Amino acid sequence: MADTTLMSIPGQVDPVPVARDITPRADGRIDLIGLPKDRIRELFAEAGLDAKQAKLRAKQVFHWLYHRGVTDFAAMTDIAKTMRPWLAERFYIGRPDVVEAQHSTDGTRKWLLRTSDGHEFEMVFIPDADRGTLCVSSQVGCTLNCRFCHTGTMKLVRNLTPGEIVGQVLLARDSLGEWPKGSMAGLDEVEDSAEYTSDGRLLTNIVMMGMGEPLYNFDNVKGALKLVMDGDGLALSKRRITLSTSGVVPAMARCGEEIGVNLAVSLHAVTKEIRDEIVPLNKKYGIEELLQACADYPGASNARRITFEYVMLKDKNDSDEHAHELVRLLKQYDLPAKVNLIPFNPWPGAAYECSTPERVKRFSEIVFEHGISAPVRTPRGRDIDAACGQLKTAAEKKSRAQRDREATAAEATEAAAG
Ligand code: SAH
Ligand code: SF4
Repeated sequence: MADTTLMSIPGQVDPVPVARDITPRADGRIDLIGLPKDRIRELFAEAGLDAKQAKLRAKQVFHWLYHRGVTDFAAMTDIAKTMRPWLAERFYIGRPDVVEAQHSTDGTRKWLLRTSDGHEFEMVFIPDADRGTLCVSSQVGCTLNCRFCHTGTMKLVRNLTPGEIVGQVLLARDSLGEWPKGSMAGLDEVEDSAEYTSDGRLLTNIVMMGMGEPLYNFDNVKGALKLVMDGDGLALSKRRITLSTSGVVPAMARCGEEIGVNLAVSLHAVTKEIRDEIVPLNKKYGIEELLQACADYPGASNARRITFEYVMLKDKNDSDEHAHELVRLLKQYDLPAKVNLIPFNPWPGAAYECSTPERVKRFSEIVFEHGISAPVRTPRGRDIDAACGQLKTAAEKKSRAQRDREATAAEATEAAAG
């Protein structure tokens, strides 16, 4: 069943070999994570259940997968005991493998993950007082090579499957201990609210701002986010999900229409010359075209503004003139906009430096003075390379042996502390 053919995705490195929607498993079982409920029903029917049974079982299994976070068919107590091993022989409930988990001093957590065919990628969790944001990856690496971004320097690129994308959310909830508890004897029974509670809802928001350009993996990102938003499962509101794009103009309207999440746009520069240099995709889709697509973005309004991300690069894009031009452009296109100023996060070999704090402050003030919100984003998790643009799989930075040594040392420290 698993389609192992490779396809190409658009981008600067083309064609790029990427797996299709399901990553094949050596044992032949099909991983259900990432598949829509209807596809699960079809697979159950193909495996021999009659239409009515297939529909009922698909509904039950879906609920266990996404509402309860169960990873073992044996735990699905409302499914007949004899049926559970039948399912387990044919199907599987996967999670990305965790290669390494790190904790920043500011509470940010970063996981290095691996697909079942051995590709590594990262996810980051950023806790705040009033929310918990999971930063999800859409690709292993990125084809776009923005000059200030570490991910863009990775050689290997592959699209993540819907299962690998939604799998990050499931894994985060596993790690945060956030699945509802309780026995749930039957789906149709009224659940006992005293027993059936979740622990404080740590994960409240999702941003598609990890590795990769999500709009170059549109179908898989859409499939994954549909599962995240499904009311029978994780049930996260589209208002709590933000997709960040470097400006893949032809896919932006579809993103608004078909996915409906908040949009963030990596603008980063206000002149063609500078944006061509730092975001090379600008040569394909220029600033005017990009801002027009933002003005046309379905669902954008003053209540649901588009976020413009602007990385602060010393002596590159951070002058007073640039700030004024930014304001002019946003007003010209009448955009319901807020600006996020991101101090550049350094990485080894980067060609840029971060603007001085005074410069960032002044830039922010100018934009604010013209009635557009422009907060400076506090870098999070810099000590573990988890901040924006620092993601690049450790596989390329450290040897396996070095990681093992570090893991042993960390365990020893923990043991000594405890
Ligand atoms: N590929 C998508 C989403 C991932 S990047 C995009 O480019 O929008 C998330 C944000 O971090 C983007 O705005 C990106 O431009 C920014 N970024 C990349 N490298 C950075 C760095 N070194 N310092 C600060 N921000 C960076
Ligand atoms: Fe890719 Fe975004 Fe990094 Fe650009 S900033 S290289 S689009 S991940």
